[in-house]
Amino acid sequence: LIQMFIPLNFLGVMYREIKQSLTDIERLFKLLNVNREVADQADAQPLLVKGAEVQFDDVKFGYDSNRGILQGVSFTITAGHNIAVVGTSGAGKSTLSRLLYRFYDVNDGVIYIDGQDIRQVTQTSLRAAIGIVPQDTVLFNDSIYYNVAYGRPTASREEIVEAARAAHILHFIESLPNGWETTVGERGLKLSGGEKQRVAIARTILKNPRILILDEATSALDTQTEKIIQAELKEIAKNRTTLTIAHRLSTIVDADQILVMEQGRIVERGDHRELLAANGVYAKLWALQQEEAKSST
Ligand code: ATP
Repeated sequence: LIQMFIPLNFLGVMYREIKQSLTDIERLFKLLNVNREVADQADAQPLLVKGAEVQFDDVKFGYDSNRGILQGVSFTITAGHNIAVVGTSGAGKSTLSRLLYRFYDVNDGVIYIDGQDIRQVTQTSLRAAIGIVPQDTVLFNDSIYYNVAYGRPTASREEIVEAARAAHILHFIESLPNGWETTVGERGLKLSGGEKQRVAIARTILKNPRILILDEATSALDTQTEKIIQAELKEIAKNRTTLTIAHRLSTIVDADQILVMEQGRIVERGDHRELLAANGVYAKLWALQQEEAKSST
């Protein structure tokens, strides 16, 4: 069986190809247990999380050696704060989250969490500290109970129900004919974009990570659902170190700091007001999105 999967070993490519969520890739890694991109060092130590400060120090990275994607990216998210990354498609925003989760190792520079180089800690401890709400949550062909519990499989039923309640999806689950035992995923009940995001939120609440990556969905939910989900995300991001990959600027105006990326570089940084005052790339993007919002109403 493993032989059959070896040609698929470049999971990074599969990411785009089959649009799996980050969580699903992690499960695949476990299933295949072959050719991981990165491996624990022999003397890897568990990550010691204190405040959960995240620092990218002059990070350079390319998926292959002949094409650099990140050209030297530096920023710090101080403990419990929130940084949002915006920029043109392909600028390298999601790549930042894949590096922080250590699907790949940097080519140059260092990523630190609380001063520890993430290459020197065990992957299990690193990934236990980070929760991801991905663009498009992939559900397993399994019960909705399994799908929520995936955030922390050792959680008690009570905790799982509480997480669903906090993610505002409990009522929906209980209204299904088979309740928690309903099969979801490709071969089961298809959930809407908003419902899937709530499953991801419930998983994250269960996992209770100190660091959070929010990869905003590109495909728009309806405005009403989006507003509610945004409010829920804001709630779970409270007091966690958060990296938000944003497509709509309106959702990140409150971020402590906004990084504007173009072609693998940070070209502007500051909070919303500062960036508008600077009248550069961000201000132009903002004006453009305001125009679009006006013309769509
Ligand atoms: P978007 O806003 O469209 O999601 P992004 O800024 O998040 O874009 P990334 O997903 O970080 O962009 O991709 C940066 C560049 O890296 C793109 O040119 C993309 O084609 C390339 N890329 C992404 N994933 C891979 C991969 N697994 N293998 C090779 N190249 C990749």
